[in-house]
Formats: sequence, C-alpha cells, structure tokens
Amino acid sequence: MSVKRLAVLGHPVAHSRSPAMHNAALAELGLAGEWSYEAIDLAPDEFEPRVRAMAAEGFAGANVTVPHKGAALAVADTLSETAREIGAANTLSFAGEAIQAENTDAQGLLDALPGLPAGRRALVLGAGGAARAVVWGLLREGAEVDVWNRTPLRAAHLCGELGGTQVDAPSSDDYELVVNTTAAGLHGEDPFAELPLEPAGFVSGQTVVDLVYGDRPSRLLAAAQSAGAKTVDGIEVLVRQGALSLEIWTGRAPSLDTMRDAAVDF
Ligand code: NAP
Repeated sequence: MSVKRLAVLGHPVAHSRSPAMHNAALAELGLAGEWSYEAIDLAPDEFEPRVRAMAAEGFAGANVTVPHKGAALAVADTLSETAREIGAANTLSFAGEAIQAENTDAQGLLDALPGLPAGRRALVLGAGGAARAVVWGLLREGAEVDVWNRTPLRAAHLCGELGGTQVDAPSSDDYELVVNTTAAGLHGEDPFAELPLEPAGFVSGQTVVDLVYGDRPSRLLAAAQSAGAKTVDGIEVLVRQGALSLEIWTGRAPSLDTMRDAAVDF
C-alpha cells in the first residue's frame, strides 16, 4: 500500500511546527505507516504548477500558509462556502484531478476560545489573511466586531467585505474579547509599541488571544494574565485548525493533547 502524503506549503516554511504536530497525531492514531506529513517551500510562482502535480505524486492533501492562502483558493476546482466567504483557503484535498479548498482557520479560532462569542464585544487587531478568518468566524457566531489595523484603509476594506466596524483608537478595556492577528511581536518587537494596547489596559473577565507564537506566554499574553484575563495562545489556534484539517483528510479525529505537545516541544 502506498503512503498517502500530506504537506504544509509556505514560503518560508522551514520553521513550521505542522509536520511535527501532524506526524505525532498520525502516529497516535496508528496511521504513521499509511500517512506522512512534510513541509514544502514554494515560491509564489511555483505554487500553482506544484499543487496541480501533487495528486500524481501521492499527496492526499495539504495545508497552505503565508503567502499562498489566496492562491490556494484560485487553484481549487471546488470551494467550501466558508473558504469562499473568507476569501482564503488553508486546507486543500486532492481527489484524482480535482482540488477541493476549505478554510479551518476560523473554526480553529472558535474552537480555541474558552466560551461562545455570541453577543460579545470583540476587538480584532490586524486586517491580513488571519484577520479575515477571525472576523468572519466571530461575526458568524454573533459577536459585535471592531477592527483596528496599522494601515486603516485595509481594515476599512475588510469590514466593507465581511462586516464589522473599522476603528482608529480602540480602548482595550471596552472589549470582552481581544484577538491579535497582526505579526507585531513576531520578530521580537514590543507589541505594545506597535498596537493600540497598554500593558495595564487589560481587565479580568476579558479573553485575550495572540495568534503570534514563539515565546510562551507572549509579552501580550503575559500582561493579560497579570490583569486576570483568560488567554489563548497561537499554538492552541494552530492545533485546533490543524486537527480540523487532519480530520478532513483521514476521517479520524486526532488527539489535541498529542498535537499540542508536539507543537510546544518543537
Ligand atoms: P498578513 O496577511 O501578512 O497580515 C499581517 C498583518 O499584521 C497586517 O494587518 C499588518 O498590518 C500587521 N502587521 C505586521 N507587522 C506589524 C507591526 N509591526 N505592527 C502592527 N501591525 C503589523 O499575515 P497573516 O496571515 O494575517 O498572519 C498574521 C500573523 O498571524 C502572523 O504572525 C502569523 O504567523 C500568525 N498566524 C497564526 C496562526 C495560528 O494558527 N496561530 C494562523 C494564521 C496566522 P498592515 O496591513 O498595516 O501591514
């Protein structure tokens, strides 16, 4: 029996925790001999031809990360309603010649939250690909969503397409949920210097999510914890979206603990 191959496609992608996380989950499911997961670095001009060749190379599916989530939508033959509405795909499935696109980022974020967002006031920081999935998911669940971005026009554009309200100077203590989807902090910069947040501006009763992962806790989440807020880190969101992708491909629900341990130990 030939091994069914899976991959994460990105540029760069060497830092990705997805291969460790997915291979650990496949082993725990007893599928390590039948499935394998690898990282493939593709420059933007290599993406479409390589994806079209993957089914013939034995691939059953792929996760897609920066900068290819829009291209993944364009290359697909069929799109889920979710991927179409968000305008990006992070999960591709290959069935013969056909390429199916799905987006598990929005549900992954919702699954990682400690409570339902319905009726909550939420502040989303950022207006890139991750923000689109977060805003779409929170609005679908009935949250009231404000969006701030360093480049305000981009936030206005996102809200025009998906809903939500663009804001210029939010006060973080006005919100029950704060989600950082920006890359601020990714390269060691102080997120409080880049974002409209104060270290002392968090309050207990809030939930604060930081999609950036690296240090645990991130500077942003450490400040939120000090104020008594509940926190969700980027690893948890990565684990939840990955678990949903793996279930799409294998039909089996993987162990979240196994995936989390592998992602943290990376
Ligand atoms: P993207 O489409 O390139 O968007 C980047 C966003 O970050 C834009 O809103 C950009 O603002 C903002 N930004 C970048 N540097 C900033 C800075 N120094 N100060 C303030 N804002 C800054 O990227 P993306 O796909 O949305 O990903 C964003 C982040 O989320 C990345 O760190 C990524 O690793 C992380 N992420 C994590 C997960 C997870 O599962 N944990 C999933 C997806 C993404 P401008 O519009 O002004 O440039």
